[in-house]
Parts: sequence; structure tokens; C-alpha cells
Amino acid sequence: MISHHRAFIARRRTERPSEEYRELTAAEWDEFLAHFELRKVALGTCGRDYATPCQHENACVRCPLLLVDPAQMPRLQEIHANLVDRLQEARDQGWLGEVAAIETTMAAAAQKLEAMRERAAQPSTVHLGMPDFRTTAGRLSSDC
Ligand code: SF4
Repeated sequence: MISHHRAFIARRRTERPSEEYRELTAAEWDEFLAHFELRKVALGTCGRDYATPCQHENACVRCPLLLVDPAQMPRLQEIHANLVDRLQEARDQGWLGEVAAIETTMAAAAQKLEAMRERAAQPSTVHLGMPDFRTTAGRLSSDC
């Protein structure tokens, strides 16, 4: 099995362009690291593709690509409370063009707050358990 796997890797390497196996330049490595730095936003992490610009004008609250950070829940609650005030003001002033947009943002903020609560409730580590060899060992020992 190991020799088959090695043969597969060797075969695959011969089929791939050799330039993919060269060392990265310092500039390429810096650009790669910057990719992750530039994905950090106030409410969490942006999940858009590598080397792509934000096409949503940094409206992260309404963006489905935002992976929320539960630690930023107070910030989002503050944003939501501000939206409630802005909605009331828009209604009071008769700015009906703003009402629908604010309501959409409020719905997105409420959805992201729920996502933050769900993420905060998840355990930070996942216990995968230990493999149980007792049944296997029993079967093997009887086979011998
Ligand atoms: S709006 Fe969306 S794509 Fe743009 S920075 Fe925020 S999360 Fe990323």
C-alpha cells in the first residue's frame, strides 16, 4: 500500500507543472500572510476568497461571508441598539426610503447575534474520544 501511494505521488508530481514546486519568494510569502491579516474585521473574520476585493462595501453586518466572533457580541448588540434608534428616527422623520434598509440590517444583525450565541455555546474543544480496540482485539485474538 505504501509503495502504491508513493508511486501515485511520484506520478502526480510528474504531471503537475514544475514551477509549483519552487520556493516562495519573500514577497509572495508576505502577500500570503497579509491575506489572513486583511480578513480580520471588527465583528469576526471575513471568509471571502483569496485575492478578491470586498464586493459588499464592507457592510459586514449584512454579509453572509462574515464568520462572527462571539467575543464581539457587545459590539454587535450596540450596533443593533443603534439601528433601533435610527429606525425610530427614520419613521418619525418620514424617511421611508431608509426604513426598509434599516429593517434589513436589523434582521441581519439579529441573525448574526444568534449565530454568536450558538458559537459561544459550543465547546471550544471537541473530544473525539479514544478508539476502542477491545472488540477488535478480541476478534483478532480468536482469529490467531
Ligand atoms: S462585507 Fe463581507 S466580504 Fe466585505 S469585508 Fe465584510 S465580511 Fe468580508
